[in-house]
Amino acid sequence: MPRTTGYRLAPTALVTLILAAAVAGLIWLRTGGETPDPSLRPPAETSAAAPAQPEAQAQWTHPRSRERREDRRHMVDTIRGYGLQDEAVLQAMQGVPRHEFVPEDQRLRAYADSPLPIGYGQTISQPYMVAEMTRLLELDPESKVLEVGTGSAYQAAVLTEFTPHVYTVEIIEPLATAARKRLKRLGYDTVRIRHGDGYYGWPQHAPFDGIIVTCAAGQIPPPLIEQLAPEGRMIIPVGGRFAVQSLMLVTKDREGTVRSRNLMSVRFVPLRRTDVSED
Ligand code: SAH
Repeated sequence: MPRTTGYRLAPTALVTLILAAAVAGLIWLRTGGETPDPSLRPPAETSAAAPAQPEAQAQWTHPRSRERREDRRHMVDTIRGYGLQDEAVLQAMQGVPRHEFVPEDQRLRAYADSPLPIGYGQTISQPYMVAEMTRLLELDPESKVLEVGTGSAYQAAVLTEFTPHVYTVEIIEPLATAARKRLKRLGYDTVRIRHGDGYYGWPQHAPFDGIIVTCAAGQIPPPLIEQLAPEGRMIIPVGGRFAVQSLMLVTKDREGTVRSRNLMSVRFVPLRRTDVSED
């Protein structure tokens, strides 16, 4: 009888459960250090291939730093204070060690709610803006998301708290190289980084359910609209280098109709073009 069998197996199942919890606890403790051992986490593709258990799946991308947790808590309180109440986003912000993404001489200020220089005239965005743009994407673990402007890869790391399918493009080669090394060192092995002009998106991996642009474009790049999936969402600052920029939400519905909405005034570094000379 299936019922009897189930009853007899119960103590064994309980022991297995306790053992599993103990192992999970050990893994959590080990990965909480500064240089998590990547071998302790399941490979990304394996987790992605088994989407039945969201909790188990969430483990793939959650290297945890216990350093400066209090500072992060303070940063998260500040973001909450601005009215952002999305607990998943706040938790993601609590999870990613921002101090690991800024240059050595900026580390003390890493948890202030302000943008910081990351070299080559670029900046890591203000934490509130990272949180708000992440929230607007409405990601789930199945979402495929493209970021234009990898920079330090902090935003990309925050995205991995929601989905293992993160693609990011950076036009400044040394930044792309440094970002790749940093993510590897910290254990964020699901993110795919490409050095190139993000104006053209990443057609090989399109369509994307979410597109996040972290530099300001003069207009919404048509290739990005094209690469947005039906029911996809794109967050992009639009406006010239010296003009007021608007953070736009661009949506594509099931039929492919595109709508855009101006959300707020913002200030981002400009989206650079490979075929346009820089001053
Ligand atoms: N998201 C980043 C912030 C990046 S600042 C972070 O979390 O740190 C904007 C970045 O966009 C810069 O690194 C800049 O080099 C990059 N960028 C500018 N124009 C680009 C383009 N056309 N394609 C890809 N990246 C671009």
